[in-house]
Amino acid sequence: MKKHNFSAGPSILPQPVIHQSAQAILDFENMGLSIMEISHRDKKFVAVMEQARSLAIELLGLEGKGYQALFLQGGASMQFLSVAYNLLEKRAVYADTGTWSANAIKEARFLGDIDIISSSKDQNYNYIPKDIVVPQDADYFHFTSNNTIFGTQFKEVPSSEIPVVCDMSSDIFSREIDYSKIDLIYAGAQKNMGPAGTTLVVVKESILGKVSRAIPNILNYQSHIAKESMYHTPAVFAVYVSLLTMEWLKQLGGVAAIEKINKEKASLLYHEIDRNPLFKGFAATEDRSLMNATFNLTNEGQKDIFDTLWKEAGISGLNGHRSVGGYRASIYNAMPLESVKVLVDVMKEFERKA
Ligand code: PMP
Repeated sequence: MKKHNFSAGPSILPQPVIHQSAQAILDFENMGLSIMEISHRDKKFVAVMEQARSLAIELLGLEGKGYQALFLQGGASMQFLSVAYNLLEKRAVYADTGTWSANAIKEARFLGDIDIISSSKDQNYNYIPKDIVVPQDADYFHFTSNNTIFGTQFKEVPSSEIPVVCDMSSDIFSREIDYSKIDLIYAGAQKNMGPAGTTLVVVKESILGKVSRAIPNILNYQSHIAKESMYHTPAVFAVYVSLLTMEWLKQLGGVAAIEKINKEKASLLYHEIDRNPLFKGFAATEDRSLMNATFNLTNEGQKDIFDTLWKEAGISGLNGHRSVGGYRASIYNAMPLESVKVLVDVMKEFERKA
């Protein structure tokens, strides 16, 4: 039986995409070859890369606005460093809203001065700071739109006169925002876009080429743009599955359509967390993520009962990150409403049994 997959990442993918990918592993577009054994220079894969790059821009509503999309390797963690290599001359400013922003800050500090202009560390990152004032004299402002571990999410892009960089690893393509307010977006594929192995970078070309340092080619966005994201061998399979997932999303009606479904799923789940006296939400209510719902038991002594119930219901991947404890239900784009209903039913059953 297929499990209800609430894993934080790598995570659930749409079932039709998994079937199409399985077919392409056996025989890619009737070539008599697997997608995993063709050259990245084969014209069929070059077409995949071109479509993936343009569909990413289209889904974000960034066509004709001077952006380039790249599918790179090294994960979002490599981007912590690449961003600084390409944009940091002297000083940049960061919002510190979780483990991943803290890691981004640590890496950027190898290359220059990083000031934390806002932080929610004082309360174990359970909220989004509201006081963010981005100074005008820094090279760029960096924030993490969705904090995968803590389950908080920026509802709006903070206003800024300087270039804005955003780690959208866990909420890319999940909701409508004005993406043109962000100059550089990066996102590991393995939550809302595809399997692990590739990272989407969407960058406004006009912000590049301004730093005085020499940038190693592998980290240089301009080298990747010049080679149309084929500077070196891309993660062929991961890019292909990402394209299929983006096509699935487009067919569904794009980001606006999925946002409606995501809101429905999240409100169903948060409503039960708030209603049921055996649970309490971790994140501040107004900052709750539409993608990762974090919650704890009011009585830890009842953990075994709850764990048995959700496992028996075919639910997988519900344990919280070790820095928060409790539970985390990741309800990414591909998560069907039906699976969220199964979880909510289990929570109700737990109330009856405990
Ligand atoms: N940023 C965010 C918001 C994440 O959730 C993650 C991974 N869970 C990362 C960065 C790190 O991504 P990667 O493992 O691809 O380097």
